[in-house]
Formats: sequence, C-alpha cells, structure tokens
Amino acid sequence: MQSPNMSSMRSSRPSSRNSSSDLAVRELVAQRAGREWCLFVDRDGVMNRRVVGDYVRNWEDFEWLSGARLALVTLREWAPHIVVVTNQQGVGKGVMSADDLAAIHQHIQSELAVDNVTIDAFQVCPHLESAHCACRKPRPGLVLEWLRQNPRSEPSLSIMVGDSQSDLEAAVNIEAAVGGCSSVQIGRYVGVGGIADACFDSLRDFALAVARARAERDS
Ligand SMILES: [Mg+2]
Ligand SMILES: [Zn+2]
Repeated sequence: MQSPNMSSMRSSRPSSRNSSSDLAVRELVAQRAGREWCLFVDRDGVMNRRVVGDYVRNWEDFEWLSGARLALVTLREWAPHIVVVTNQQGVGKGVMSADDLAAIHQHIQSELAVDNVTIDAFQVCPHLESAHCACRKPRPGLVLEWLRQNPRSEPSLSIMVGDSQSDLEAAVNIEAAVGGCSSVQIGRYVGVGGIADACFDSLRDFALAVARARAERDS
C-alpha cells in the first residue's frame, strides 16, 4: 500500500461528464464548512468489488476497489463522521452469519487503521428483502437510527454515496424524513440517471473532486 498522500495521486483532468459533478461537490464542500455532519457510504461496489450473484462471505472474498482506501483517507479528512451503510441479505439467507459479517468489518477497520482512518459505524441490514424491514435500503432506517444516536450530526447535511438505485432512492427517503440529504452516485450501474447530485466513476474520483474543491477554498 502506497503512502496515503493525495499528491501522489495523479490528478486527472475532469471529463465533461463530470464537470457538473465537480460543481456539485464544490457546493457540498461549501455548505458543510465548519459543520458537523456524516458521510454515509455504501460498501459493495463502492469500497470493494461487488460479487455479482453472490455475497462477500468472508475476508478472502473482500477485494478493495482501486484507490478506495486512499479515497477514504481524503474523505476522512473532510467528513466529521463516516458511516458504512450496507444491505447484507446473505445473512438473512443463511449463506453467512452475523459474526462472519462482523469479522469482515473488523478486518476493514484494521486495514484502514494503518492509514489512520476509522469508520464511525457499520450500519447493516441483515434481513431478507421479503421481510420488509425498516432498515433495508432504499428505506432510510439504517441512516435514521445512526442520526438519532448521534444528534450532534446535522441530519440535513448528510451525504449518501452509493452505486445502486436503492442507495440513491435511500437519499431521497432520508431527505423526506430529515429535510435534506445529498447523493453521490459511484459508477454506471444505475440505469436511470439524473437523481444523484453528483456522479463519479469511483470513490477515488469523488475523493479527488473533494480534494480539489477544498484546495480551491483554501487558496
Ligand atoms: Mg452497492
Ligand atoms: Zn433490515
């Protein structure tokens, strides 16, 4: 793992596709300066490679996406809180246990600790879709529960980062519940675009946009 230094990352020229997203990120950064808020981050497809048609059942299945760890270093410097919000129906199906899942999240924390990054919490929905629980995204339960337990974090300044339609719909549902929630789409998995405030190919590219926006404010 290379040293977590943004200057070591080649700063790519933003594509025209992303120029409006860069503007949106500038706005996100400006609105949150000096405030206490939380960055909610989906796990599979954002931090690590999705296992299509299956689940990340153990640490051997967990594969960091390129630049994701470095991105979390940058995002950690910006966001007062970072919470992972993840649907893990594999637990409900019995293909893995809650302990297996907790062990994966403990491994993530251990690896990130090398970079001085801590995830505030892992908010997990282990339920089957058919259970119609209040926590499975796109429902806002996982986020609302964390916000209730952390009242100093301004709910309406929340940002939801995810690669699936359910993540972006979750942002809409959180906004309906607390009066605000911005959304950042990662990748091109979502077919119907247009509802996210910003869209980037990777968590790395989002973090780079945040770093650029913060550098502009400081200059
Ligand atoms: Mg995902
Ligand atoms: Zn649930």
